Amino acid sequence: MGKPDQLFLPFAQVSASASYGATGSASASYGATGSASASYGATGSASASHGATGHAFVETSSFVGPSRTMADETVPQALKYRVRENRRAKRIILRVTVTHGLEVVIPSAAARRQIPEVLAKNRAWIEHALKKLCDEQVVARRELQTPPTMIALPAVAETWTITREHVVGARPRLEERAHQHLHLCTDLRDSGWQTLLRTWLITRAQKAFSAWLKQLSERTQLGYARITVRVQRTRWGSCSRNGNISLNARLLFVAPEIATYVLLHELCHTQELNHSIRFWRLVERFEPNWRKLDRALTEASRTLPRWAM
Ligand SMILES: [Zn+2]
Repeated sequence: MGKPDQLFLPFAQVSASASYGATGSASASYGATGSASASYGATGSASASHGATGHAFVETSSFVGPSRTMADETVPQALKYRVRENRRAKRIILRVTVTHGLEVVIPSAAARRQIPEVLAKNRAWIEHALKKLCDEQVVARRELQTPPTMIALPAVAETWTITREHVVGARPRLEERAHQHLHLCTDLRDSGWQTLLRTWLITRAQKAFSAWLKQLSERTQLGYARITVRVQRTRWGSCSRNGNISLNARLLFVAPEIATYVLLHELCHTQELNHSIRFWRLVERFEPNWRKLDRALTEASRTLPRWAM
């Protein structure tokens, strides 16, 4: 069994990255894709900044940045960061992520010397990115405390209303009542509702995508073995060497044409288990608009509900 091909979901919603060019000019971007070299559709500096690939060491350090002037008083601000060496990085890369906070990716051990300078030059960007991350985490925590009252599933043009019943000590229970109406019976201090909603989402996605994939397979004459639907954090879909297609239930949150593109993308992998020119030609044969849809998919990943992560 070979390594399955995977269509990655960029970590756009959780990370920001900046890359420091050799010229000394820093380029910073928000919501830039901070994901993997293996991630298709990843852009720019991000390709070198994947946490999973070949880093030599990891450590945590502190950097005392340039003094800040406050009423003629200088207050040095300590900046916590960790350093990761990645020989594939072409320059020093700064990343701010949920998992690691500020991370400095260096191409070689020698580049370590330049870190203080890079941090100083990018101080404003770093502070902005850290603040943004902190704000996002506050929102995320708040969002995860209470179940949603509504779930919009653009892929299948459905909007579900959720009513809640608070029962102290109750084991969480979810019922499909009337048309697009879910009733959640739970002790609100219990976060079990997330699992229930995710399971429900998978069932809904399984039903929708099984039918779509079958139709699409007939239209394109591209066969597949089996379909699996899961809630996945980092992948939209994947296709194994045996032709088993796995899809992310979160595709229900994107527009139907984008979800269909992902299904088609994976179906094409049953013929070409790579992202070669031949693969994209095959995709193009069935969906000439794939580039636009691919970009839209990246965009869509920024607005997914957090309970479905
Ligand atoms: Zn792919």
